[in-house]
Amino acid sequence: MQDLTSLWESVLNKLELNVSNVSFVMWFKPLKVVDFVDGKKLIIASNSTSAKNQIMRNYFDKLSKSVEDVFGENIEISILDQNEELEYIKQNGDKTKEKEVEVTKNPFNAKYTFDNFVVGKSNQFVYAAARAIAEHPGEKFNPLFIYGGVGLGKTHLLHAIGNFLKESNPNLNVLYVTCEQFANDYIESLGSAPSSKSKAVLQFRTKYRNLDVLMVDDIQFISKKTSTQEEFFYTFNELYQNNKQIVITSDRPPRDIETLTDRLRSRFTSGLIQDIQSPDLETKIAILRKKCQIEKYSIDDEAIYTIAENVNSNIRELEGMLSKVYFLASLSNKHTATKEDVMEAIDSQIEEDKNEGLTTDDIIDAVCKYFDITRADIVGKKKSKEVVEPRMIAIYLIIEILEIPLISVGKIFGGRDHSTIGHSRDKIADQIKTSHKTQTFISEIKKMLKGG
Ligand code: ADP
Ligand code: MG
Repeated sequence: MQDLTSLWESVLNKLELNVSNVSFVMWFKPLKVVDFVDGKKLIIASNSTSAKNQIMRNYFDKLSKSVEDVFGENIEISILDQNEELEYIKQNGDKTKEKEVEVTKNPFNAKYTFDNFVVGKSNQFVYAAARAIAEHPGEKFNPLFIYGGVGLGKTHLLHAIGNFLKESNPNLNVLYVTCEQFANDYIESLGSAPSSKSKAVLQFRTKYRNLDVLMVDDIQFISKKTSTQEEFFYTFNELYQNNKQIVITSDRPPRDIETLTDRLRSRFTSGLIQDIQSPDLETKIAILRKKCQIEKYSIDDEAIYTIAENVNSNIRELEGMLSKVYFLASLSNKHTATKEDVMEAIDSQIEEDKNEGLTTDDIIDAVCKYFDITRADIVGKKKSKEVVEPRMIAIYLIIEILEIPLISVGKIFGGRDHSTIGHSRDKIADQIKTSHKTQTFISEIKKMLKGG
């Protein structure tokens, strides 16, 4: 059991690493935790409606991710403004003082089930294989090796197998780990003090070698470190020989994982290797419909079609776009989202993607060009006014646009320390509020960066 306020502090600590300093101070720091209801709904209060909207629009993913890391999966997040907060406390009392929270991370994500997995041409075989394994673990394909690009449903399928088995066969010992967790687990057992070392390793082995089903996600991250691979090799053999099911995923087939030792590669190749491909248009539409049904989103057909046509890369992005569209529609109090909302969401995505493509060099080059100075000057030690202001502007823009930590920015600017960098950033942030000249500099350089 932990108290709610300290859990919320851990969420903020995680967020602080993931957003720029300015955004953290402006949007996140003022947030307060209000309540945590039934172990699944987290209620937060913000001190202004604009902060609430900013977070919902631009940072919701980051917020959810940090909440998930601390509170577990499938937590619904609700942000209240001041009035809503007062109303809430009036009705429910102030919970933050006494509330103790039990955080039990359910190993399998309840949303990732076979029922919620839409089957189409791109994934029908892998679905069939995963299903067969869930129904007859250890008897069909062993190991099952699933590979395919990011966001195409590999993790979803592993959790679906887990959820299915938990339901149908609660006594089975089923474990899902990422490749990284396996490695950390092992290394930690080795790292124990010498006297307890063999005991820790023994515990590790008891945990992994007595499983009925072992699922390892993202095996491409297996390190070259031979001891970890060796341990995995023995774990694999032990389970395999006892007809225990092994399922592995990767972003590429075994032959393309360079770090893999030959003997593990040949083990992986001995079962069924099945790829998962990008969804076609029909499957994308079906996935969007399913998701709307699950989330109770109301979106018209034309809007769904437009999303499916415009998002090509992967299903996670498809879902991201859908949430954005729904959020935009709800801002204008529309009951049903339309194509108009999709177009707006796509535009704002394009803006974001543009920023993502930018590098520190692009920003430095643009600033140099704008002020007609050299790169050597801007990152160097000169203290004349002609270079000091452009330098501070470049620092400000790099931090604001790319959200890079102050220390790293300091390295780019000739090893300046982080407080100097922070000072430059703050100075420009202040000037923007009062000086028309600074505003113009910033907006014109931003225009240059956008290719305008
Ligand atoms: P991967 O592990 O391959 O990177 P994930 O399993 O995390 O991808 O899937 C990304 C998102 O897309 C998840 O939210 C998942 O539920 C969803 N998704 C992927 N494939 C499907 C599908 N066939 N039907 C419904 N949702 C899907
Ligand atoms: Mg995954």
